[in-house]
Amino acid sequence: MSDGDPPLESGGHAGPPFDPERFRREGREVVDWIASYWESLASRPVRSQVAPGWVRSELPPHAPEDPEPLTAVVADLDRVVVPGLTHWQHPSFFAYFPASASSPSILGELLVAGLGVQGMLWATSPACTELETHVLDWLRVLLGLPERFASGSAGGGVIQDSASSGVLCAIVAARERATSLRTNSTGLCQNGQPLVAYASADAHSSVEKAAGIAGIGRAWLRRIPVDDWGRMDAAALSAAMDQDAAAGRRPFFVVATVGTTAAGGIDPVPGVAAIASRHSAWLHVDAAWAGAAAICPEFRAALVAGADRADSWGFNPHKWLLVNFDCHALWVADRAALVSALSMKPDYLRNEASDGGAVIDYSDWQVPLGRRFRALKLWMTLRMLGAGALRTHIRSHVDWAREFAGWVAADPRFEVVVEPSLALVCFALRAGDDASRRLLDRVNASGRCFLSHARVNGRFALRLAIGGATTTRSDVVAVWQLLTDSAPP
Ligand SMILES: *Cc1c(COP(=O)(O)O)cnc(C)c1O
Repeated sequence: MSDGDPPLESGGHAGPPFDPERFRREGREVVDWIASYWESLASRPVRSQVAPGWVRSELPPHAPEDPEPLTAVVADLDRVVVPGLTHWQHPSFFAYFPASASSPSILGELLVAGLGVQGMLWATSPACTELETHVLDWLRVLLGLPERFASGSAGGGVIQDSASSGVLCAIVAARERATSLRTNSTGLCQNGQPLVAYASADAHSSVEKAAGIAGIGRAWLRRIPVDDWGRMDAAALSAAMDQDAAAGRRPFFVVATVGTTAAGGIDPVPGVAAIASRHSAWLHVDAAWAGAAAICPEFRAALVAGADRADSWGFNPHKWLLVNFDCHALWVADRAALVSALSMKPDYLRNEASDGGAVIDYSDWQVPLGRRFRALKLWMTLRMLGAGALRTHIRSHVDWAREFAGWVAADPRFEVVVEPSLALVCFALRAGDDASRRLLDRVNASGRCFLSHARVNGRFALRLAIGGATTTRSDVVAVWQLLTDSAPP
């Protein structure tokens, strides 16, 4: 609050919760605060340095009875919250996969909150549903995904909160297709046959979680071995599915990963699709991180190969496409199984448009009933940045990753443990796992970068994932300099 602002008594701090004048004033302050935070990022340690419990120890034990001004809250934001943050938008954040953002998407997020609509049914806000259908059709074309995922076909796209929800919806739809559980009162297994799901050993943990939540049972998810590049062994998948079928079990669901979390491995989707279809199993493609790169024609073929035979395909614009968390795009080839599994229309939600069958009610395509207007931030990002800038963003990261891998390969102390995948480089010290682990701890403790690690081909590897919205080539040069300075001679 600036000096010219009215004092608390007349300033309306205790006034109505929905005060446009107050919102204009305080909204500008918050937007300014965010912009200053971004400007300050490079000078902050990437990872939070606080000890467990410190943040809570700085907070009062009870909620306030009387209103407090925004200035008091912002002061505590600076004093207590910011020190407790790991700065995901920091230019030297190279850990996990990026959770990138952009100013258009953040403005979209603000509009989502400002409009405050609930898009559970078409009828509860037609624009919320139709904009979502439309931008997912845009995105499908940008990625070069097949026509079967278009809203004008039997399929279509939906925005979920995360890839974990995407795979959960897919496994539930697959279960529905295999058992007609909804109309069939005999339970999870048809004729007493256990349902069996398959994913590679390097598939994301959300697949196993989904198998548990869906009542398939984690033990009925078979983990198929991967090769040295982290790709599923299709022959082993085929053998496992044949063996289950011969033993009277029902192979019903296969997840192929395009860009594994550990090393960015890409499963042989066309081959996996052929095997899945022999057993009439649902094929879900998890392209959570790597999928974004399909907007570049030169990367597309490897990423969308086999998508024309997939039943569902999902990726996270909230990872590498500059849309802030949360935004997972999921496409299905046949919406009927998904809707059959998840649709609920109690009397109080029934309406003419839904009964007429001419509209999409997206609550039928997801687990919760209520839903956010996430399409707005995707729409604003695509419009205000344009596909060209998004392609440049992805291409630069892939170029810098290749350069970085070249520096690693040229230093006799280091080695690349697996061929880089897009903007992900997994590397290690030749001196072994302990030395690599110590190096990772040392560079992360400096506060000047944040890298994560993974087990790749049985080895401890440092992982450099380039993808931040604020990262430049010089940040990649700097992290390599820090690594070489910190490595033993
Ligand atoms: C990040 C990631 C996930 C999980 O994504 P959420 O959106 O956080 O659920 C799943 N699969 C892969 C391959 C990922 O990279």
